[in-house]
Amino acid sequence: MVGVYVHLPFCPYLCPYCDFAKWPLRATQARRYLQALYAEIERESAVPAATIYLGGGTPNAYGAGDLEGLLARLHARFGPAREVSVELNPELVADGDLVRYRAAGVTRVSIGVQSFVPAEAATLGRKHTVEQVEAVVAQARGAGLHSVSLDLMYAVPGQTLRSWRQSLRAAIALGVDHISTYGLTVEEGTPYFAWREREPAAFFDDSREAELYALAIETLQSAGYEQYEISNFARPGHRCEHNANYWANGEYAGLGVGAASYRDGVRSVHTRSFEEYVAAALRGEPIPSQAERLEGRKRAGEALMLALRTAQGVALTEFKERYGIDVLAEYEPVVTRFARTGLLERVGDSVRLTVRGRFLANDVCGAFVTFE
Ligand code: SF4
Repeated sequence: MVGVYVHLPFCPYLCPYCDFAKWPLRATQARRYLQALYAEIERESAVPAATIYLGGGTPNAYGAGDLEGLLARLHARFGPAREVSVELNPELVADGDLVRYRAAGVTRVSIGVQSFVPAEAATLGRKHTVEQVEAVVAQARGAGLHSVSLDLMYAVPGQTLRSWRQSLRAAIALGVDHISTYGLTVEEGTPYFAWREREPAAFFDDSREAELYALAIETLQSAGYEQYEISNFARPGHRCEHNANYWANGEYAGLGVGAASYRDGVRSVHTRSFEEYVAAALRGEPIPSQAERLEGRKRAGEALMLALRTAQGVALTEFKERYGIDVLAEYEPVVTRFARTGLLERVGDSVRLTVRGRFLANDVCGAFVTFE
């Protein structure tokens, strides 16, 4: 069983912080891209999928009819997945869309909200209103979808502890099943990068960002959401299985421009060139990709980094059976260093990040990947 990720790269407009493979929506390009995806799906081996995830970009920049057609092809190739997720821009959801998605097998939607504070949403370049988000959640409930998730962003220029609390409480008040909270990262080449060069004081430093993260953990946990991963919170029974498979170092197939796969120990990433992707797919040729075989210490380091992101951490016996590596012996200097500084802890047969360690997860995880 694999997770299948499908990248739909068109957006109605481009957000100034975004570094994903995405393009402004153009009808002709969007049509060609769909044909290319269909061709790529046909070339894929017909392994059964446990989960399917339509991400982007903005998947619902395509109309419901296009997504129904795409899902029908995915189900024909990969079978009926247990969980089928679609990322949504709330502005583009038309009446009746979610009933159609549900009938096409969708079980879960993830709504890109980022902020319930209009000034912050505007800073992020988002154009939806709070009322549109509320309407989409109501429509998802009416359609009988199993899980409704929201994405929120912190460390947005101009944000305060008070305004961040306002967004968290608005999400909780909507009664959604799952909330993802991401700290803003400023990537080179984006308009935000140029903004930060001009005005660094507008952006959060690590300690102020940590205060926002702490507030998210405290607010969401006291509202009954379990933090099951560094950035993800869910009510019981509503974890995202597709992403959980990534963190378990499971296999996945990525379809579409810039999509990543991990199969048979090889991690590969498709070209981010739109033309290169479409041309190869339509000719029925392999998609130009960069590939790397992960073996030995490298494979173990990646698996450790992923597992440490989760609440349960690294299950030591299971890890040894799967990778042949005794983590406590082989990574002894790294484990000892972070245990001493209170960032890692041993609980039963597992090693996991402490609450404090979650704030410095990138440093801890990075140390396992680079340890030789
Ligand atoms: S909608 Fe999402 S993918 Fe599109 S530009 Fe904005 S952040 Fe990037």
